[in-house]
Amino acid sequence: MEISLDQIKEKLGNAGLKATHQRMVVYRALVGVKSHPSADKVFDSIQSENPSITLATVYNTLDTFVEAGLAKRVMSGKGPVRYDARMDNHHHLICSNTKEIIDFYDEELNSLIRDYLQKKRIQNFELADMQLHIRGEKLNPNKEIRIK
Ligand SMILES: [Zn+2]
Repeated sequence: MEISLDQIKEKLGNAGLKATHQRMVVYRALVGVKSHPSADKVFDSIQSENPSITLATVYNTLDTFVEAGLAKRVMSGKGPVRYDARMDNHHHLICSNTKEIIDFYDEELNSLIRDYLQKKRIQNFELADMQLHIRGEKLNPNKEIRIK
């Protein structure tokens, strides 16, 4: 996904963050690097053009984005925390071999879960957001994981 500098500025501004150079660079990498990058992946992708940005800065900046509601942490089980700039309601298919994390959008699944939880009448708890992690193994490493 490509995103313009103006769009990034607007995103940061809307989240109440100053659009510093570091934040702009890290956000663009977060959105641009395929499939839910780890902090290391983000760092690798920006290092050559931005040698002054350290790995620690990347970690801190990603944490700032999470706090500000601009990114989510995706806990993939083993391995490093991965980050997601997509804040809309979606689930993840996680391949334990390739470590790929694929976005899984399914309104039918969402309403099934919502209905189910409503039926269960969990007391004193309000559902805000749900994220299923569906773990599995890619059958053919050369092929893409595709939904439908
Ligand atoms: Zn995602």
